[in-house]
Amino acid sequence: MKRRTCLSAIAGLAASAPVLSWSAASAVWSALPATPRMPVLFMGHGSPMNALGDNPYSRAWAQLGAQFGRRYPKPNLILCISAHWLTDGFWLTAMSRPRTIHDFGGFPQALFDQQYPAPGAPALAKALRDGVLTPELQLDPDRWGFDHGTWSVLKPMFPRADIPVIQLSMDYSRPAAEHFALGRQLGALRERGVLIVGSGNVVHNLRATRRDAPATQAYDWAREFDAWVQGHLQRGELDALVDFQGQGEVARLAHPTHEHYLPLLYAAGAAKRSEMPRVFNADFQSASISMRSVVWG
Ligand code: ZN
Repeated sequence: MKRRTCLSAIAGLAASAPVLSWSAASAVWSALPATPRMPVLFMGHGSPMNALGDNPYSRAWAQLGAQFGRRYPKPNLILCISAHWLTDGFWLTAMSRPRTIHDFGGFPQALFDQQYPAPGAPALAKALRDGVLTPELQLDPDRWGFDHGTWSVLKPMFPRADIPVIQLSMDYSRPAAEHFALGRQLGALRERGVLIVGSGNVVHNLRATRRDAPATQAYDWAREFDAWVQGHLQRGELDALVDFQGQGEVARLAHPTHEHYLPLLYAAGAAKRSEMPRVFNADFQSASISMRSVVWG
């Protein structure tokens, strides 16, 4: 199939019912045992400093993580889509020992000292690459690792770092519908114990941050965009989230660049309309970052 034809076929999936494109005989299917359906998460990560010490956000992440192995099955694999890995084409980390990346500046040494030594899963990455209907999905054996969008939330959630983690990059040049459609394909992996985690922020404007603003304070445009997202979440209108740029000026203020929004589309794509989302950490950091986080399933 030619690239353009294939891409339009994928974009077309966004509007249709969930499509299970995975063959029961695919390598992923045989490598991962069936499990009760895994929930899917969107995590608002905010400042990297949230990873340090005791704060309401990391406490909520830890509480959620503690439910795996109890309320939810323990994941066989975590597949994380972080706002902080943007690439030409789509890539999967495929190293056995991913490094912890400190992709920020101007923070205390204690943050640079953080490590998240979870293993990678190169064979599963290859099986995913072979099974996903996405052109330009490539394996990265040595460049990336875990950026702070991944490790800052996974470390409080799963401090033992004993569950393999793969990161999937995002091609920022691709339309929003394509990211959503890719999330929809990945959703089938929930039946095989794969925990899909989108890590970004529902509102993210670093140019407008007011450092000392309490969590209850936010700009009007931040509240408006946050409420627009929440409305669609509540009503199960997940594919409507694709057209965020239709919100015009409010969307441009909420996301001067939209890499922190896109992980929400992967998580929403992997969720089912019938799954009532549970929202937590629904407040603001520095008045211009929504920490709203979502669990489906
Ligand atoms: Zn971020």
